[in-house]
Amino acid sequence: MEDKELSVKIINSIDVSKKNLLGLSKNELKTIFSDNNLPKFRADQIWYWIYRSGTIDFDLMTNISKDLRTELSNKFYIWRPEISSVQKSDDGTIKWLLKLSDGNEIETVWIPDGERGTLCISSQVGCTLTCKFCHTGTQRLVRNLSSAEIVGQVMLAMDEIKDWPSASENRLLTSIVLMGMGEPLYNYDNVKKAINIIMDHSGISLSRRKITLSTSGIVPEIQKCGEELGVNLAISLHATNDTLRNELVPINKKYDIKQLLDAVRSYATISNSRRVTWEYVMLKGVNDTIEDAKSLVNLIKGIPSKINLIPFNEWPCSPYECSTSQNIKNFAKIVMKAGYASPIRTPRGRDVMAACGQLKSLSLRLKKQERKNLVVT
Ligand code: SAH
Ligand code: SF4
Repeated sequence: MEDKELSVKIINSIDVSKKNLLGLSKNELKTIFSDNNLPKFRADQIWYWIYRSGTIDFDLMTNISKDLRTELSNKFYIWRPEISSVQKSDDGTIKWLLKLSDGNEIETVWIPDGERGTLCISSQVGCTLTCKFCHTGTQRLVRNLSSAEIVGQVMLAMDEIKDWPSASENRLLTSIVLMGMGEPLYNYDNVKKAINIIMDHSGISLSRRKITLSTSGIVPEIQKCGEELGVNLAISLHATNDTLRNELVPINKKYDIKQLLDAVRSYATISNSRRVTWEYVMLKGVNDTIEDAKSLVNLIKGIPSKINLIPFNEWPCSPYECSTSQNIKNFAKIVMKAGYASPIRTPRGRDVMAACGQLKSLSLRLKKQERKNLVVT
């Protein structure tokens, strides 16, 4: 018979009888310390170790007494996602497929740019929305990521690119975009908590101006996000009339273009006229004519904006093709002339399938294949 006292549930080598300290707000960390009769000021020290130097081993926290370090490691742990696979592109882009404690997988992409770089992080496993051109939208499995799982992606990337603030003032990771898998505004509470941790001055300390949240247009949450977080806002527009947007971005049937524009106008006011980014994926023969470009610049008139034209990243059996480079250039000319100058977003890491949700799907297909092979042999 199993000895219950001795049995410790282990998931992915994590002892679930211990508590993860990653992803807690500073106040939560302080409360946990006082609940465990530990001095509250130690919470500030732990925070510094976790978010300033990326230390996950209590034994390395040298300004804490040995006895306390032992007590901490008996009760707590500091989590990191596991790396399932890594793909490196010739242009330096790195795409990690990360495994969470329950076995689910998400993607995180590092896009270096000289001395700087952007990290693209996920907010959900899969996505409940079904944008027709998006590979994530084809994956049914969905759950929200916890704040630990959102911050954990940043920690993992900083470990991998060796970019902890305690080691150097010159940081490589200079901006974060929530443009990975999932709709961040459908996981608002955890996203907000994670962003507040990432912005905290005694930790990672990335300013709100260096963080961009991309949404397909969850109108009621947009204003809240402006008031409470004030990060940069990117809107996945992709069409300038409701008929086409209903088809490409079906959430438009719930919150149409007019409602979306009103929400963005008030966001721009709250965030002190910081420019909103409009994402527009270029789909051949669907939304890429000169007339479409003119409608786009007319639609957003009066809103401080920039436009990101994104060449469609094709995936196996995708229902669309990318516009021709000539059409993209013609489109871009009109956008530039109207003053929304923004270079065409160079598709980074094409050779590693860096578009939203593609690595995960590849992994799922391979697993299915492996299972089939297992049955056959
Ligand atoms: N759910 C959020 C954020 C994740 S998607 C949103 O929709 O905004 C991030 C961006 O990638 C969005 O603008 C999305 O429209 C775009 N995207 C998704 N699939 C793409 C593809 N295959 N090619 C180019 N852009 C794509
Ligand atoms: Fe979800 Fe964004 Fe993909 Fe649409 S584009 S399915 S909202 S991840």
